[in-house]
Amino acid sequence: MAGLFDWKKQPAYQAYSSHSVRPDGLPPYEVDENGFYKVAPGELYCRAYDKENAICPNDRKQWQPSNLRHHLKTTHKYTLLDLPPGKANVVDAKKIDRKLFRNLLLID
Ligand SMILES: [Zn+2]
Repeated sequence: MAGLFDWKKQPAYQAYSSHSVRPDGLPPYEVDENGFYKVAPGELYCRAYDKENAICPNDRKQWQPSNLRHHLKTTHKYTLLDLPPGKANVVDAKKIDRKLFRNLLLID
């Protein structure tokens, strides 16, 4: 549909979400100027790094993206940037952070 970005239908997302444990090489979270962590819609694996630069030991795929957001807030005490407006797996194409998706999922 015009104006909407359905991340769940992207082949790169389907490849990303097919792993039961975190794929190697995911970049650390970006943090905005207010200290809010940027989590892409649909993210399923924790990619938090600690002060010693070790990635989170929880490498299992989360049941759904909201579980990951909960994990980041409770375990890592992160404040997360709000998701772009939308419902289910479709977000406003103008509001989606395509760079974030590209970096994470290698979407063109
Ligand atoms: Zn974690």
